[in-house]
Amino acid sequence: MKITDLVRKNIRDLKPYTSARSLFSGTDAVLLDANENGEDRFGNSLNRYPDPLQRKLKQRISQIKNVPAENIFLGNGSDEAIDLLLRIFCEPGQDEIITCPPTYGMYRVLANIHGTPIREVPLDENFDLRPEAILEAVSERTKLLFICSPNNPTGNAMSGDRMEFLFKNFPGIVVVDEAYGDFVSSGAGHLQGVRHLKTHPNLVVLQTLSKAWALAGARLGMAFASEEILHFFNAVKFPYNVSAPAQEAVLRALESGGVEEMVNEILAERKRLAERLLELPNVLKIYSSDANFLLVKFTDSDVVFQHLRGKKIIVRDRSKELGCEGCLRLTVGTKTENDLLIQMCGRTPVRV
Ligand SMILES: *Cc1c(COP(=O)(O)O)cnc(C)c1O
Repeated sequence: MKITDLVRKNIRDLKPYTSARSLFSGTDAVLLDANENGEDRFGNSLNRYPDPLQRKLKQRISQIKNVPAENIFLGNGSDEAIDLLLRIFCEPGQDEIITCPPTYGMYRVLANIHGTPIREVPLDENFDLRPEAILEAVSERTKLLFICSPNNPTGNAMSGDRMEFLFKNFPGIVVVDEAYGDFVSSGAGHLQGVRHLKTHPNLVVLQTLSKAWALAGARLGMAFASEEILHFFNAVKFPYNVSAPAQEAVLRALESGGVEEMVNEILAERKRLAERLLELPNVLKIYSSDANFLLVKFTDSDVVFQHLRGKKIIVRDRSKELGCEGCLRLTVGTKTENDLLIQMCGRTPVRV
């Protein structure tokens, strides 16, 4: 399979926007190429456009993730990367994607925006992938497969052997969304997408700083892929897609580190939250989670949802999602937030 054959023709032929500044590396040049205001009026250098390729930040992320900088794309959240994948590979109204519900809602929303038909291949009764059924759903026009692992809203990671089977046999681009990958303990034997980039050039791995890294407000998503694929990402993206304040704030946050500590705390809280909720009479089931949230089946999720809302506790109602009847998705918060959640779930009137 050749990657370029999967790319839309107009994108293959695209002459991307070029910034004159990318021809020049170095400092103290007289910058009269971009119609900025030369005066740093607010003392924060925001009068200048940011680095379109976020080179400093990529260097740092390259070290942290142990992935060469050439294989990293940074965007305005990983949602930008999902949008770019559709723009690069799917001819609107014609090329298809495959998703595996219940899963992250943005795949569908973005596909709908692009007019991209979706073939849905539901997860099995354990919320795991059905590789054979996925391959059967492939048509001439199938371009992308979205695998979310750990999956939102179910919380579980997909089995590694099923994912590898799909990397090998899916005749298009396999997107592995690891937004919650930081919560999977390295010893657990789960598949780490970035370790498979070299052997599978059709793989795109998405990660984000919005969840474990406590930087949702910065809007910084990452895509890891072959240079061949990222060439098209860089050609199609908006030239200055990550703002200067975002680049700087993230660099500073990455220097101060501490993500392992935060993750460990969240995992301990997840365990405590699950144990406490299981003691409640209106909790039927808690699905095992590899993420920073719990999918919980209640005897009457509507009543719990409304009761919590009345107490100004906002959780996600997933009861209308395939296979998630009666379920709410609860983010593991701080200890104080979790205590409040446990208390209020316990005070919910139980319908008999
Ligand atoms: C939260 C989430 C994202 C989006 O992350 P951003 O980087 O904030 O855009 C992507 N995929 C999944 C599965 C998510 O849950």
